[in-house]
Amino acid sequence: MWKVTNEVNKVILDDFRNKLIEPLFEEIIYYKRQSLNISFCENIKNGIDVKRGSSRSLINYLNKRKTKKVTFGNLIDKIISDNSLNELENYYSIFVFQNNEINSGNYNIKEEVISKEFKFLFADFFYEMFFDYKKIWILIDKKYEKSSFDRNIFHINFKRENNIEICPYCDIDSTISVFNNEVEHFLPKSRFPFLAMNAYNLIPSCHACNKKPDGKGSDVYMPIYSPYNMQIGDKLKFENDIVKRKIELSTDDSFIENYLKLLNLKSRYSPRRVYDYVEAKAESIYETLNDIEQMGKVSLTQKQIENYILEKGIKFAKKEPLTLAVKYAFSEYELYLSYRDKHIVD
Ligand SMILES: [Zn+2]
Repeated sequence: MWKVTNEVNKVILDDFRNKLIEPLFEEIIYYKRQSLNISFCENIKNGIDVKRGSSRSLINYLNKRKTKKVTFGNLIDKIISDNSLNELENYYSIFVFQNNEINSGNYNIKEEVISKEFKFLFADFFYEMFFDYKKIWILIDKKYEKSSFDRNIFHINFKRENNIEICPYCDIDSTISVFNNEVEHFLPKSRFPFLAMNAYNLIPSCHACNKKPDGKGSDVYMPIYSPYNMQIGDKLKFENDIVKRKIELSTDDSFIENYLKLLNLKSRYSPRRVYDYVEAKAESIYETLNDIEQMGKVSLTQKQIENYILEKGIKFAKKEPLTLAVKYAFSEYELYLSYRDKHIVD
């Protein structure tokens, strides 16, 4: 719901792309063109340098890594033997195309058929294993000796950059506890494996948003916006049903409707306790605003009220739950006052 950026992690994950994924694709395609008799690993060890020869020592190191009983070098040999040159080049262009689309902010991408070996390469090796693998980061660039990188640092970078401790997807759960920190693939890695390492496809979220039944799992609904596109919470109506004491989310935008569906947000905003929390928070903000008005003998404008909630009230915005729903409650101050007089009991 909050608009976020991920620039610091983007630079780091671009290193991974430029120094590992791209050279690996080049090596694979180069190897296939030569129709060599030796294995890929042997070729990397002994072969002639291709364009990015400096990545050879890295790929040579990777060739012996193993996860789920699969050796990296053997997986690459299988990828090379099972695919024609045409197919390999086609996979590479899908990789480039999908990453370019995400980088330019388009999440409405056609799902392509991608072999299980490529899925294994991107999801199991790159994302699950290499993301947290210190030695690999150092081989990617010596600078990672000093400033190492892993999932924990990914979260720290993101939180610092956005000054956020709340889940940007839902604005319900806090991610202060490290155990409630998930790295969520907006377009799921099981269906879009080539996007598994793109910073604009990775959103640090709360546990509920990442996992079924509350969250998205590997669901995809299109057309859609992501929190890297816009502050979706500003485009929503959080209507208070004072009889049922529940918040009803709605939107006229089909992209946002799909976002609500993906994260099951209508149902997650509907419990009474969510309504009560928003009401209590709105009431305490009202008290503060009222004090400001009385002390200064002024009447605050709508804009000043919203600024107070989002900026001066920064102590809680993006740090405590449901700020965007509270802000909506004040979106028409006059309306809020009459609502308050009628329904909030002292
Ligand atoms: Zn969440």
